[in-house]
Amino acid sequence: MTWTKSIFILLILGVAAAGVVGFVSRTPSAVRSAAPGRDATDPSLGADFTSGDIERHAAYRGPAYLSFALGTILGLVTLAVLARGPVADLVRRLADVKGGWVVRTLIVAAVVAVVLTLVSLPLGFVRGYSVAHAWGLSTQNVAGWISDQVKAIGIGLVFAGISALVFFGLVRWQPRWWWLVGWAAFTLLTVLLTFIYPIVVAPLFNRFTPLDDPVLERRALALADEAGVTVKEVLVADASRRTTAENAYVTGIGSAKRLVLYDTLLANGDDDETAFVIAHELGHKAENHVVKNLVLSSVGLLIGFAVLAWLSHRSAVWRWAGADGIGDIRALPLLIAFVTIAGLLTLPVQNGVSRWFERDADSIAFRLTGDPDTAIRVFRRLAFANLADLKPVPLATWVLFSHPPIPDRIRAAVAESPSAP
Ligand SMILES: [Zn+2]
Repeated sequence: MTWTKSIFILLILGVAAAGVVGFVSRTPSAVRSAAPGRDATDPSLGADFTSGDIERHAAYRGPAYLSFALGTILGLVTLAVLARGPVADLVRRLADVKGGWVVRTLIVAAVVAVVLTLVSLPLGFVRGYSVAHAWGLSTQNVAGWISDQVKAIGIGLVFAGISALVFFGLVRWQPRWWWLVGWAAFTLLTVLLTFIYPIVVAPLFNRFTPLDDPVLERRALALADEAGVTVKEVLVADASRRTTAENAYVTGIGSAKRLVLYDTLLANGDDDETAFVIAHELGHKAENHVVKNLVLSSVGLLIGFAVLAWLSHRSAVWRWAGADGIGDIRALPLLIAFVTIAGLLTLPVQNGVSRWFERDADSIAFRLTGDPDTAIRVFRRLAFANLADLKPVPLATWVLFSHPPIPDRIRAAVAESPSAP
């Protein structure tokens, strides 16, 4: 297929997918605005949510699953279309370009990355902007949303360029052992990315300031002491410029380690509630979850590269994309499709491990704070603020949930209560 025809068809598909998701996401404003009041976070309610709350949250979350499925299919279709002609055509046109394979690889990687982004943009706008606004979750204007997308494309281009150069460079350099060297190189890149993400990438999107609350900070440090971890500083992210959702996380390794709280979390909770969230994040630190995740992703990379080494001998696969083999730049769309499919197949494992880490962090937080009632209040508050799916179908939990469903987390807290049977 030619470039014009391919791009035209792909953009139509992108807009159609966005239209379907937008249509399915329609919810009467009476339902959208029916958020419960402060008393709905009462710990005595435990894991009980009203059927109105369950339905309301499902109306928001259900279409998100469809959006995920359509977005994935759209990405794979885009890569298949690009593999069947356009990329080979681009490589042909670049035959005489100065700079050899390095420049050719960078241009092809950039073009593929930009096309993938453009095709997914309408869907991203519907879920990330329109629907988020309709539900009062977004505090961003269109200009802010567009500026985020531009930054994301910029970062995506840098990562796509580096990954493609490293991959094709290694196949050229080590035609036999590229997969083993590739595994080592991409493990190193993952470690490097984990290190620089909080210092280089995150500040492009948010401002991080030290927690300006001596009482809460003293409490955080005391909790850290009890958990046996050191915290240099607790940072606050200005998440409210984008969302009303609440969150906190630990990120980075080595000197770039940090504990981050959303300002929305601080604004909506009292000190006891925030202390519980901090204790949960300290649980992640105490159990070294960031490092464990790095080890696990390195194992995943090794398996991925081994499968790719096996695939590299199946010449029919690469010929389908007009490529001479795995080291041919024309193989790029197929390689990205491989990464997408591998990611999809391992999603249940990745999220299963993540849910296990989250349960660990919760139980450490229960022990550190010794205050299950506050934990239940926090979970209920987060459920409402983030419109969490309160009754997810088991398949969705199994594949897509990085955290246990809120009712499960509440039940674990209830089990910690002194009054529990
Ligand atoms: Zn967590």
